Amino acid sequence: MTKYIGAHVSVEGGVDNAPVNANNINARSFALFTRNPSRWKSAPLKAKTIDQFKANCEKYGYTPDYILPHDSYLINLGHPDSEKLQISRDAFLDEFRRCEELGLKMLNFHPGSHLNGLPLDDCLDRIAESINMTLEQTSGVIAVIENTAGQGTNVGFKFEHLAHIIDKVEDKSRVGVCIDSCHAFAAGYDFSTSESYTRVWNEFERIIGFKYLRAMHLNDTKKGLASRVDRHEVLGKGLLGAEFFKLLMKDSRFDNIPLVLETPDPDLWPEEIKWLNDQSNQ
Ligand SMILES: [Zn+2]
Ligand SMILES: [Zn+2]
Repeated sequence: MTKYIGAHVSVEGGVDNAPVNANNINARSFALFTRNPSRWKSAPLKAKTIDQFKANCEKYGYTPDYILPHDSYLINLGHPDSEKLQISRDAFLDEFRRCEELGLKMLNFHPGSHLNGLPLDDCLDRIAESINMTLEQTSGVIAVIENTAGQGTNVGFKFEHLAHIIDKVEDKSRVGVCIDSCHAFAAGYDFSTSESYTRVWNEFERIIGFKYLRAMHLNDTKKGLASRVDRHEVLGKGLLGAEFFKLLMKDSRFDNIPLVLETPDPDLWPEEIKWLNDQSNQ
């Protein structure tokens, strides 16, 4: 089996609990927040917590290739206001530094929003500039841009947007993408049947390229195709449906990367993980 299925697990009590929580649900990968995702300020990570995190990862067999930290929801790397942009860039740098401290190699983030204060292309340029500034000041951590559902003024809902950002990032070895299946469907990418699945991933290959695919978020969706609304649903219970996940589990292009559930009911994660593993083993 080469699929690394996991979930975005809780860090209640400290980030060192994340690998323990992941192991409890038989996850082979996991996502986590390294700071409070809805606050600007977070206390620095304690040396003891960092050591314990690394020890727990080793104990349960999680290597940095299969750990996908997610940044704070407040950060907007394309903010039209220069002062507010700076606050976001400072917080983003702190997120990168935390990944470095924890020995992690990826940071997953939402690209940003133009807030009707900037043309979309300028917002994408600004996001790429934010990434370049952060990469220059750090080492070893890859910026993993997540596609969005295109809610409100969020950018990054078209493959072209992600390609635009990647094109302007100087160090191509340190940029990648995470495709969220709920967001893609809500943004208008219908890959719910075997024909449409093939078509969408061919488009992905042509516009972005699988070489940039670093992770997936596996979510079904409560909202319809091209609704531009981001509401995750349990796998197989939503409008995307089970077929997509079955096809993905048999597709070797998704081997050896974190495949992370962000579905709404953590009590169902063990079942969802087992179901996905069963699909890949059939
Ligand atoms: Zn996601
Ligand atoms: Zn979402």
